[in-house]
Amino acid sequence: MSNEQPTEPTSEEMRLLAAWRTFFESNCKAEFAALSSIEDSVWGFEIQWEALEAHQGLGTSFMSNRLKCLESGSIVLEEQFALHNLMPRPVIRIIGFPELNRYHINDLRMRDRTRFLRFDAVVHSASRAMGWLKHSAYQCNSCKHEWKIDEQLARARKKAEVCPLCYKIARNMLLDDADLKDIPDARNIKMDLESNYYEDVQYMELFDPTSLKGDALPEDVPTIMAVVTDEYVDQFSPGQCLTVNAVIGVDHLPSRDYLRDTRRILRLDVHSIEEGFSLHEE
Ligand SMILES: [Zn+2]
Repeated sequence: MSNEQPTEPTSEEMRLLAAWRTFFESNCKAEFAALSSIEDSVWGFEIQWEALEAHQGLGTSFMSNRLKCLESGSIVLEEQFALHNLMPRPVIRIIGFPELNRYHINDLRMRDRTRFLRFDAVVHSASRAMGWLKHSAYQCNSCKHEWKIDEQLARARKKAEVCPLCYKIARNMLLDDADLKDIPDARNIKMDLESNYYEDVQYMELFDPTSLKGDALPEDVPTIMAVVTDEYVDQFSPGQCLTVNAVIGVDHLPSRDYLRDTRRILRLDVHSIEEGFSLHEE
């Protein structure tokens, strides 16, 4: 299924795809072979930062445009999984980031939003597992064009109003003074429920290991909300010590009671998790 405006990959995208291809070919052949008996539906495919950084600028791409870098990597990894007849849907999880990215949960402030950082953290609590509509899918009843819209977690679903192809045709015909009855109705679209894409998601409250006193889980401790997806959902339990690699995001107050409340809290959008601390002693 295409995006709203189908476009050719840019030269940067071509470069990224080529770099990921040679990366998987030279680093991961043995891993693909070892995965043949996996029956999970989603598989977190771990990649060491050191190996990524050493390969054709992939590390720089990850740090400068993480989403684009991971998107290209996922395309190539899915190709590789198909090639090796591997059933699960792979998710790239890069681990082993350097100390340069180290931060402490208690030091996080608004100025840190959008940064990619590495934390030692203890699980305080976890929400129930949920799903969210990550991409909504639409179909045009007139020309049968299919497209998807990327949604945002915990935000209102975007409203699709017209078929982009019919809209373009209609606009050009109007400019050419075509007969109104010949112009396609670009609003004649429907949501394609079968093709809507849902992702598993879970909220976890994490706290800084410096708040750990003895073996008991501290009751009154400042926590930060972390959002985990896919195979990480329902994998971790209260008291567990983790190394979390995440982007700092911003969210509404969970308790806000009026719509345009300007107050915000920080949130960890988790990219990858390693079990155990990497800095603190356990
Ligand atoms: Zn159409």
